[in-house]
Amino acid sequence: MKQSFYDLNYSDLEAIINQNNLNCSAAAVLFNWHYKKKETAQCHDNIAKSSLAFIEKNFDFSLPEIDLVHESTKDRTVKFLFKLKDQHKVETVLIPFNNKYSICLSSQVGCAMNCSFCFTGEQGLKRNLITSEIVGQFLQAWRWLARNRPGEERILNIVFMGQGEPLHNFDAVKKACEIFLSQHGTSIGVQKITISTAGYIPGLKRWSEEIPGVNLALSLHSPFAEKRNELIPINKKYPLDEVLTYIDKIPLNKKQFITYEYILIKDFNDSADDAEKLGTILAGKSAYINLIPFNAFPGSRYESPDLAKIEKFKEVLDTFKIPTLIRIAKGDDVLAACGQLNSNN
Ligand code: SAH
Repeated sequence: MKQSFYDLNYSDLEAIINQNNLNCSAAAVLFNWHYKKKETAQCHDNIAKSSLAFIEKNFDFSLPEIDLVHESTKDRTVKFLFKLKDQHKVETVLIPFNNKYSICLSSQVGCAMNCSFCFTGEQGLKRNLITSEIVGQFLQAWRWLARNRPGEERILNIVFMGQGEPLHNFDAVKKACEIFLSQHGTSIGVQKITISTAGYIPGLKRWSEEIPGVNLALSLHSPFAEKRNELIPINKKYPLDEVLTYIDKIPLNKKQFITYEYILIKDFNDSADDAEKLGTILAGKSAYINLIPFNAFPGSRYESPDLAKIEKFKEVLDTFKIPTLIRIAKGDDVLAACGQLNSNN
């Protein structure tokens, strides 16, 4: 069976090229064509004939198929639904800022975390994505931009905040990061990649040891154990205080900080007491808080607080001198905002 080219990081590819005595420049040429060029029609033209036969016989260059594209009319957010080889579907979102984009990638089909506020969790975990399906989301979205919004095909940030728990599928996510980071690959700066987690400690260990410099976002959502247990069931196994203690021990570089995400849910975790406690546990850390008003989805049981309440919450955090941003939903008209991704719909 052919091996997907997009499952290989640069050293995997070099090893295959060397083992098979192919032209030693083939790895660089292939990476250059597939990760740096928007148009790949002639991509194998300047590879030596002897190497080309091997490459075409052994590598599969297919990418996840674009099944649907939803473009927001409000803010130019684009949501893609990708069809995978086994017919499963995953979603990817391009979030615009100043004619550039952040891309929100999925790491699993569905998710095992079962968070009570998240649409994806309702699907349960179907399976992990493989590296080529993660890298493929990026390449397809990038090429779609080149075709449909020429001149705007600049994806500056990658966030693993789509479907799935990236630290639950660490091997595939790590290899995708290696391809994104590689000078030969898409060459994205390490500080431009963020992995978001519900707080899966075994994965946190691997993140800190194996992909240092890649940013971390922790979905915090409540500083109180009982409430967090209700929102994020794995809090019972990996309680917040243990997660924070673990994160505190990780050496960060000077410019690095941890993002703490906090979904604001009306009359649940939006009081001054909640803000006060949140400020207390994060004060003094290299922290940045993203306040995300809860995004509703069909059948959701929570509501978002009004803007006055959200601003009040932020004012309390400001007294702790923690940088806090209220993240206004983008793409909510196409169900592309945080927590609205569910590929069964
Ligand atoms: N499993 C990872 C990544 C996926 S969720 C994690 O838990 O971090 C990415 C972000 O979307 C998280 O902060 C998550 O808490 C947030 N989110 C999920 N559902 C949401 C909803 N309905 N409204 C607003 N944000 C939501």
